[in-house]
Amino acid sequence: MVAPGGRGGGRLRVAGRARSAPLRGPRGRGFVFVAPCRLLKPGTCPHTGGVHDFDLLVIGSGPGGQKAAIAAAKLERRVAIVERPNMLGGVCVNTGTIPSKTMREAVLYLTGLDQREMYGQSYRVKDEITIGDLANRTRHVVTRENDVVRSQLTRNRVTVLNGTASFLGPHEVEVDDADGRERKVTADSVVIATGTKPARPASVAFDEKTIIDSDGIVNLERVPRSMVVAGAGVIGIEYASMFAALGTKVTVVEQRDRMLEFCDIEVVEALKYHLRDLAVTFRFGETVASVESRPEGAIATLKSGKKIPADTVMYSAGRQGMSDELRLGDAGLAADSRGRIEVDEFFRTAVPHIYAVGDVIGFPALAATSMEQGRLAAHHACGEPFPATGQTPPIGIYSLPEISFIGRTEDQLTADSVPFEVGVSRYRELARGQIIGDSYGVLKLLVSLEDRTLLGVHVFGTGATELVHIGQAVMGCGGTVDYLVDAVFNYPTLAESYKVAALDATNKMREIARFS
Ligand SMILES: Cc1cc2nc3c(=O)[nH]c(=O)nc-3n(C[C@H](O)[C@H](O)[C@H](O)COP(=O)(O)OP(=O)(O)OC[C@H]3O[C@@H](n4cnc5c(N)ncnc54)[C@H](O)[C@@H]3O)c2cc1C
Repeated sequence: MVAPGGRGGGRLRVAGRARSAPLRGPRGRGFVFVAPCRLLKPGTCPHTGGVHDFDLLVIGSGPGGQKAAIAAAKLERRVAIVERPNMLGGVCVNTGTIPSKTMREAVLYLTGLDQREMYGQSYRVKDEITIGDLANRTRHVVTRENDVVRSQLTRNRVTVLNGTASFLGPHEVEVDDADGRERKVTADSVVIATGTKPARPASVAFDEKTIIDSDGIVNLERVPRSMVVAGAGVIGIEYASMFAALGTKVTVVEQRDRMLEFCDIEVVEALKYHLRDLAVTFRFGETVASVESRPEGAIATLKSGKKIPADTVMYSAGRQGMSDELRLGDAGLAADSRGRIEVDEFFRTAVPHIYAVGDVIGFPALAATSMEQGRLAAHHACGEPFPATGQTPPIGIYSLPEISFIGRTEDQLTADSVPFEVGVSRYRELARGQIIGDSYGVLKLLVSLEDRTLLGVHVFGTGATELVHIGQAVMGCGGTVDYLVDAVFNYPTLAESYKVAALDATNKMREIARFS
């Protein structure tokens, strides 16, 4: 597998394996070749002349760090993981994926949004939805997930060190705990899995109440009546959907002319239609020039001069790698201007026994890819075989309705002159779609005209992030559209949409053959 964030790194690939070549240091310094410590007996290393405290030290307990630590522990290595206070499980469990997805579930349930097709537009489970309603469910799930992570680390005998880690040398790390105590630990190999934090424009005075970033959502005191979302990226659109469903008047400001440009264009158009239906206003090609806090909220002024008053302004302006506290220079490393660390295809940094995984290495910055990168980095550090699967991951966007896809889009295939046919299935034509009251969902298959394999699967609507995995499995096994035509699916299900879309594609392909 090639690390999506791993771009070169000055390594040479020799017979399927990377070999360290002389590198220039991030700040122009030359690197000395360091023999990978995984080739040595566990716990011994010539670089410090003695036995290290751990075989593997992981910094950060998010999905990437957790899976790295557990993978190495399963291989019977002595492993420690460093994490800051109250952050076990990382951004994923505490401020990002899990709180936002739990909140989405609470919003869906309490607003009754996905039942309105059946019971009418006024249907709600609870008329007055408070921030407490959302926070209770979120707190419950986050606490449980914290517990699951702690228990998994304990069961696998991973030592958890509480505090903030920074390098003292390539094999030595200092851990400062919340009480100001310092502890020095050494390790043969290190995995940096420190993730990211929201990027904050210097010109904006965040007050954690009315002017917030995405981390601030979990601390809101009430459901805002109006909200400006600055940035139409995945996180911005997910929160815009949730608050719009709660009845908040949302304005999304995005400097580009379109949003989610990596997704299928028809799917994005369908999402915009749905969000506009929930009273979301889009301001594309506009930039927030300034935000002023007022006693009753805030006022955002756009570069074009427009003014938008709102109870809350949420910035969703990308994320910054959490590398500033690591003292990377002391390990012979450096980060780029966005705090990201460069790695090679084995997730090794410029210092071969120090690996970096997860959001801190950049794209695609997803929980699932971070987990896999962590596992693979630990395997490489422990001298285990490194698979070269080359599989691309699916992308899931938990907007309302949700989006998921794997493979390429129609635009990409057209740009690359790859001939394809499209097979479409609409939920409203499926019995399951009628039963659950989803009349807008759609599944689209992009099929190669050359060899009938699937080039892309795009899903919009209920269960999209689950359904996409059927397509992923077929694509991963090199299956063709004919497998889906011949397969028998449970009835009535949304999975049946694969068969319907496959029949649609093959009928069109038959027409092409007939006319040719
Ligand atoms: C609002 C939001 C929603 C998201 N939704 C999804 C989603 O639906 N699906 C999905 O796949 N992804 C989602 N993501 C992205 C996902 O959360 C990340 O991809 C994932 O958490 C990255 O994992 P990681 O291992 O890189 O580390 P993180 O989860 O970022 O954790 C890094 C940890 O390192 C710790 N750390 C940092 N510096 C130090 C230090 N010096 N010493 C000790 N510890 C340190 C931090 O305290 C933190 O706990 C979302 C993110 C956000 C913000």
